[in-house]
Amino acid sequence: MKELIDKLYKEQILSREEFFRLLTERTPKEEEYARNLAAEVREKNYGKDIFIRGLIEFTNYCKNDCFYCGIRKSNKKAQRYRLTLEEILSCCQEGYELGFRTFVLQGGEDGFFTKERIVSLIHEIKERYPDCALTLSIGEKPYEEYQAYKEAGADRYLLRHETADEEHYRMLHPEPLSLAHRKECLRNLKKLGFQTGAGFMVGSPGQTAQTLVKDFLFLKELQPQMVGIGPFIPHQDTPFREKTAGTLKDTLFYLALIRLMLPKVLLPATTALGTIHPKGRELGILSGANVVMPNLSPSEVRKKYMLYDNKICTGEEAAEGIQDLKKRMQAIGCKVVTARGDYKG
Ligand code: SAM
Repeated sequence: MKELIDKLYKEQILSREEFFRLLTERTPKEEEYARNLAAEVREKNYGKDIFIRGLIEFTNYCKNDCFYCGIRKSNKKAQRYRLTLEEILSCCQEGYELGFRTFVLQGGEDGFFTKERIVSLIHEIKERYPDCALTLSIGEKPYEEYQAYKEAGADRYLLRHETADEEHYRMLHPEPLSLAHRKECLRNLKKLGFQTGAGFMVGSPGQTAQTLVKDFLFLKELQPQMVGIGPFIPHQDTPFREKTAGTLKDTLFYLALIRLMLPKVLLPATTALGTIHPKGRELGILSGANVVMPNLSPSEVRKKYMLYDNKICTGEEAAEGIQDLKKRMQAIGCKVVTARGDYKG
């Protein structure tokens, strides 16, 4: 298997069969080899720098009913909230003072936030913080809406494809959601010039080596500037409450493969990874990740943006959080930087 890891490093692609063999036959030693190689590739492209993104979870209302997600429409136990414009701006202000130069506005698909409201939010943030990048992560929208966001000044968009296998997509999402539409949205975002992020959950119910091969090949074809992967973690008030969580070991191995396949990609060590293991984010960085997305949402609402059980939402203020993160990164020989952290194409 080592020869396949070397081939991925050299050629940045494997065939369907090769990916399948690598995923089904690798040993722990080979996983370690891939992780170390991926960390080298990260360093070659980005040095010791770790980019931070200030995550603002601004609404947990959602019209969708994804079977895995704690803020799905049918979860009547979720306490719903929306931040006001003033609250969002105050998260940005706090983040800016702490050195954040990217803000990520993430939320459920909330009808209250119409195109006009999102556009004015973008205008307001970009006017106050012209040196910052703005990332949106608010789901599937018509082309014209994405275009309006882009024209208003949004720079990036995160929309995980979740799985590139039709049947698996059906297991995770009820109608009317479809893989075809998810992919169309991703292509539209790329066409409009967004730095675009795709990705998937590791160990989601129904995921197999075959579905994963499709994920890797889809990512290679799409050539996203960002890839978000993290373990699936069950949520007690969803149909997947009894399902098993994705593992640390698999997540780290797939992070490494993504770094080898897309050497310059912006790759976060996600909150979900930090949730399943106390050193999850550090281990993610040591497996090729180069981005961390600390939470800037007001501490009162963090518990309500509960996508999965035990999601990290310490009551600590953003300032304490960033200090802790800086120390953790230093301890593994890396450095949190104050920079927009754009894709180096
Ligand atoms: N509504 C937007 C969207 O669909 O892209 C953004 C918010 S959505 C909650 C963000 C991501 O959370 C999803 O893409 C999904 O991969 C992840 N997520 C949801 N439930 C999860 C769970 N139980 N475990 C791990 N990740 C989860």
